[in-house]
Amino acid sequence: MVLAFIEHANGAPTMLSLEALTMAGRLVREMRVPLEAVAIGPNAAAAAGILSSYGVSSLHVADDPRLAGYAPAAWARAIAEVADSLNPEVIIGTASDRGGEVMAHLAARMKLPMAANCTEIAPSDPFTVTRQRWGGSLLEDAHLKGRVKLLTVAPHALAAEASPSRTEVTTRPFAPTLDDKDFRVRLVPQVEADTGKISLAQARVVVGGGRGVGSAEGFASLEELADLLGGAVGCSRAVTSLGWRPHSDQVGQTGTRIAPDLYIAAGISGAIQHMVGCRAAKHILAINTDPGAPIVAQADYAVIGDVQKVLTAVNAEIRRVKAGAPSRTPA
Ligand SMILES: Cc1cc2nc3c(=O)[nH]c(=O)nc-3n(C[C@H](O)[C@H](O)[C@H](O)COP(=O)(O)OP(=O)(O)OC[C@H]3O[C@@H](n4cnc5c(N)ncnc54)[C@H](O)[C@@H]3O)c2cc1C
Repeated sequence: MVLAFIEHANGAPTMLSLEALTMAGRLVREMRVPLEAVAIGPNAAAAAGILSSYGVSSLHVADDPRLAGYAPAAWARAIAEVADSLNPEVIIGTASDRGGEVMAHLAARMKLPMAANCTEIAPSDPFTVTRQRWGGSLLEDAHLKGRVKLLTVAPHALAAEASPSRTEVTTRPFAPTLDDKDFRVRLVPQVEADTGKISLAQARVVVGGGRGVGSAEGFASLEELADLLGGAVGCSRAVTSLGWRPHSDQVGQTGTRIAPDLYIAAGISGAIQHMVGCRAAKHILAINTDPGAPIVAQADYAVIGDVQKVLTAVNAEIRRVKAGAPSRTPA
């Protein structure tokens, strides 16, 4: 049996969890074993509806009000308890910040090795995984040993694919044994301003700005373009280091990994640590004054020019077309 650890927001599985489930689905078909899932946190049982399209037969739901908030050691202990009773051959999670942290705690608790950021899994003997190393700049083939194989799936290594046929998901609540020391690290209530804006990780269009934007105020033109296209604004680490944007906007190895249909990278050089975060974008458009900037070579399209001049013209044209005027682009 394969056990998938599902992250969710109020019962809606995250995109990365659906990708991990898709990987788990391939694995169980090859291994000819059932797929079960475990979810923790408020309204976790509601995830059953979506999980039925991913071949899950049972959803184990940790039933303890103290687990409502994120507490990595406690969450790992709850999963370990399910694992002890089910004896799975594989436990699979996501390589999100939380997924990676909980799975690492689980590995320490179960005294097992864990393979992070897997892109392929071959349940042969020896059990083999291909996984991203060095922020995705190299792929490693590794043999995973241990009585239970613990692994996380790299973000956007594959697309989430729901099955047209649905399974009957049995919800199984359980009360894990937890004590106070499992909650030494926990997320205390946080208040997030509801900006009404699309999140960076989910946006279909991301307008990213780098040092070449020039200043915090210079991001106004990127905000405008993102608004016009229904997208989100991202940035490079140079920008967060300069204090122009919050870290939550950072794209890259130490920021958010995005997978939009279009990534517009404005005034960004294209350092490897940045590209790791946007390599799942379907198309990249670079705007840069330097035709030799690394991002220009990696982009599908490039405009060589000053960020502000280019964006002023692009925004004006989109506004014009949206107002009903014909596009100036020749047919
Ligand atoms: C461990 C580690 C982790 C890291 N993690 C991340 C990460 O998560 N995300 C990340 O982004 N970086 C990360 N970095 C930093 C990364 O190596 C780069 O330093 C950073 O991405 C550079 O940001 P930038 O492209 O905005 O700046 P620069 O490299 O300074 O590039 C600015 C670009 O703007 C262009 N430009 C200048 N003026 C204009 C103009 N007027 N109009 C148009 N173009 C212009 C320039 O030609 C240049 O290409 C990490 C580094 C390390 C060591």
